[in-house]
Formats: sequence, structure tokens, C-alpha cells
Amino acid sequence: MSYSASCHCGAVSADIAEELPARGMSCNCSICRRKGTVLHFTPAANVQIAAADEAIGSYRFNRHVIEHQFCRVCGCSPFARGSTPDGGEMIAVNLRCVPDCDLDVLEIDRVDGASF
Ligand SMILES: [Zn+2]
Repeated sequence: MSYSASCHCGAVSADIAEELPARGMSCNCSICRRKGTVLHFTPAANVQIAAADEAIGSYRFNRHVIEHQFCRVCGCSPFARGSTPDGGEMIAVNLRCVPDCDLDVLEIDRVDGASF
């Protein structure tokens, strides 16, 4: 079982080798609230990214622990990169960029990222 996430124009996409998640995270931090992302974290080993290096822009702020990535053509953000406290590479998949995900039935976990 796998699903894919993609930007609007198709220049950036990723295949995620796992079941489609039933839950997503909505965060009120300064960037999530602006982008409107609904995130799902998964180990990077599950994720195969398909994009030319020059197609992906990245943005870091604050402690620079998360690399917020976006398509340089259409501006959508199908995923971000980060790591667990023990150094494991993680990908935060933006479920809003997963066409197979039914956003209306997704269980939403609200995270108070603004207070971190
Ligand atoms: Zn794009």
C-alpha cells in the first residue's frame, strides 16, 4: 500500500510506502497557520521523492530544525524535512497535497506549535 503527495504543477511529488493515514496534525505555529498544512510525520525511509533538485525550494526559520520545502514553480508544499530528537530523518507529509486523502473524514490532532 502506498499513496502519493504532489504539488499543483506536478514538478514535485513523493510516494509514501504506507497506508493512507487516518489522522493529521493541524498546528497553530507561525508557518503552519499561514500555509494551512495538515501534516503527517513518517520516517524518511518510507518516502521516495521525485523532483529535480532545482525544482525544490527550501525555507528555514527560528531554530532551523525543519526544512520547509516547496515547489519553485507553483509554490505548493507537499512535504517538509525534519528529524526526531535521536537524529532519525523524518518527512512531514502535507495531507492537503495527497489527492487520495479524504480531508473531510480525517481525524485532526490540534498541536499548539505557537507555544513551543
Ligand atoms: Zn509545482
